[in-house]
Amino acid sequence: MTDTDIVIIGGGIAGLTVAKGIVEQTDFSVTLIDSKLEANMRRPVDFDARVIALAKRSVEEIRRWGVTLPESVAIKHIEVSDKGAAGLCELSADKFGLTEFGEVVALQRLGEALFSSLQTSRLKRITTSVENISVSQNNHQLHLANKSSLNCKLVIIADGGRSSVSQSLGFSYQQTAYQQTAIICNVKMSERHENKAFERFTANGPLAFLPFTSSPQENTKNEYSVVWTIAKDQADRLLNLSDGHFIQQLQKAFGYRKGRILTVGKKDAFPLALRHADRLIQHRSVVVGNAAQTLHPIAGQGFNLGVRDAVSLVDALKPVADPGAFDALNIYQQTRKADRSNTIGLTDSLVTLFSTSLAPLRIARNIGLLGMNVSHSVQSQFVKQTTGFN
Ligand SMILES: Cc1cc2nc3c(=O)[nH]c(=O)nc-3n(C[C@H](O)[C@H](O)[C@H](O)COP(=O)(O)OP(=O)(O)OC[C@H]3O[C@@H](n4cnc5c(N)ncnc54)[C@H](O)[C@@H]3O)c2cc1C
Repeated sequence: MTDTDIVIIGGGIAGLTVAKGIVEQTDFSVTLIDSKLEANMRRPVDFDARVIALAKRSVEEIRRWGVTLPESVAIKHIEVSDKGAAGLCELSADKFGLTEFGEVVALQRLGEALFSSLQTSRLKRITTSVENISVSQNNHQLHLANKSSLNCKLVIIADGGRSSVSQSLGFSYQQTAYQQTAIICNVKMSERHENKAFERFTANGPLAFLPFTSSPQENTKNEYSVVWTIAKDQADRLLNLSDGHFIQQLQKAFGYRKGRILTVGKKDAFPLALRHADRLIQHRSVVVGNAAQTLHPIAGQGFNLGVRDAVSLVDALKPVADPGAFDALNIYQQTRKADRSNTIGLTDSLVTLFSTSLAPLRIARNIGLLGMNVSHSVQSQFVKQTTGFN
């Protein structure tokens, strides 16, 4: 006996996206389990919002499923540069026949938009966590922290980068610690963003500035969300600086491309690692989002891969009667293979190439950037992969 066709474990951004796709595109009943779901939706969005860049394809897929994208800022130009060297590459969306490369959005606002579009009787929500799972031939029984249990035909694991549920079902992972920390914070600049994002390579690690707006009503046009990747041992030193001293260091690393940094908000730190599952499927279970792969944020691809996981999984489930059928899950695994491996490979090689101060690699990356600046075909390939259309 089954209580629900599909259980999604984890109501983070990946779990909500896959839930939306299944409810929109199939007739299966879905139960979404997360202990923090309602509390997360009640958090205020302010200047300290966590922000992500959605690739153009992710924007299109999310809209195709009937979600109204919350207020966001389009990225129309990208400048890639190397601090203290000649390598500089400028990309403009219109040169590739695009209106934009993607949109920058507060993670929380995107979560709320997905959540509010999920008010349907075919989706049940349970505010608790999954403790363990008993596996049998035709269904799974989930044992929950609230002492209840439920049966389903398919378990979709979207419990994030430290996924423990997946390991209990036999998923195994490859993991590489980068010995780097990402410091994230939002800043106000003295000049307007003009829809331009920056990726700057410094001796200490890559630095990204994404244009965003914390206050859509006021339509602020001088805010940037910063992801500053730095060697682990230097991160604590930076985090302990006063705001004034932190701004000085950040300005030194970024330069004056958008004038002076006027204000900095709350700083957060994320230790960085690459972690990816060897297989995306086990008996009546699949992994999606960060539970499938957790990437370095250097190219802003983590959740974008999660969206494509969700799209492939929903497409594989559409024609079948049993959502846990091996053939459907296997199609999901096969269709994700090339995109996953290309995106993981691209991200990992960017980390290696752009986090080094070794002379030969530095020269190579400057030649690469200069070459990329003049070669439209190299640019096109890069743009295709990072906008999600490869
Ligand atoms: C600094 C930084 C910058 C980034 N920038 C970008 C970007 O620009 N573009 C981009 O695409 N990506 C970016 N990413 C990646 C992106 O943030 C992640 O891919 C995404 O947030 C992961 O979402 P998720 O739902 O898979 O996992 P999570 O957000 O970790 O959600 C997991 C959920 O599962 C729940 N959970 C855990 N265990 C259980 C359990 N046992 N039972 C029930 N529920 C459970 C948790 O409560 C949580 O809500 C960035 C990441 C970092 C660190």
